[in-house]
Amino acid sequence: MPGPHDIHLCQPDPRKSCGACCGLYNYKDSSRESLEARLDARTTLFHDTVRDRRDLGAFAKRITSIESMEKRYEVIYCCEYLGFLDKEHRRVGCLLHPSMNRGVDMRDVSFYGRELCDGHFCPSYHYLAPWEQEAVVNTIDDWYLYGLVITDIDLVKEYFRLTAEALGEAPDPERLKSGLLKDLVYRFFSFKIAWPFRSPEANRLGKYYFDGSQYMISHIDYDSLGLERSSFDKIFLSLTSRFASRDEVIRAENIIEKSIEAFVSHYRKGDSRIGDRGVYTV
Ligand code: SF4
Ligand code: SF4
Repeated sequence: MPGPHDIHLCQPDPRKSCGACCGLYNYKDSSRESLEARLDARTTLFHDTVRDRRDLGAFAKRITSIESMEKRYEVIYCCEYLGFLDKEHRRVGCLLHPSMNRGVDMRDVSFYGRELCDGHFCPSYHYLAPWEQEAVVNTIDDWYLYGLVITDIDLVKEYFRLTAEALGEAPDPERLKSGLLKDLVYRFFSFKIAWPFRSPEANRLGKYYFDGSQYMISHIDYDSLGLERSSFDKIFLSLTSRFASRDEVIRAENIIEKSIEAFVSHYRKGDSRIGDRGVYTV
């Protein structure tokens, strides 16, 4: 459970938030466009039709009748009360939360119930070091990408382990708040949604793949490609990779290496700023 000085990973600041444990990415179609449309429609319906808890039954019924509830993994519930918390659609979150309902907490009607919803802190709270948490929060201002990354402990840990090893020290999260360093970290984490070797299978999410009510851990068969296990294996799995050839693995390694090298090189050079015409200068 976070202490008074810890980062609240679920709602860290007004620029983004996470809704992963409410089932956000568990829909069969969890593309950005699909989730954006889904959350937009249900948020509008909530504000138009829910005055108090007596309206929630009709709301839930309507949502489950108009939305596709096809899931990746049957065991994880996709909550119908997850929506947008702000009119700019920068923060996803719970429409039943007291902050959204003039102080009235209506989460007791939900599938998990008020206590679980209120008291749940995912493994990222425990396994990511405070500086790793801060580094992610400082570099990603996009709810869709933020939720995917902050819950991917392997990806975050591997990236910062490799950069820290190359630098001889952990990167200072304060230096990642703006400019080129922020942009370079953001570009690396964006591989999570735009990665040339991403498997097209809908039942894959990072290193997991789902088979109805079961989930399994994927692996990359380097033997059949005539290769040793890549030193970026954990990153590749987090990026939902599928490789058809040895050449593809080598190209993927080059992309990751270059990304890390660019960050390390600019970090070593010192402060980075965006130049007058939007061109980065270091
Ligand atoms: S997955 Fe973790 S960070 Fe995201 S909403 Fe749940 S508890 Fe918060
Ligand atoms: S009711 Fe619980 S599971 Fe549903 S959106 Fe709110 S916090 Fe998430």
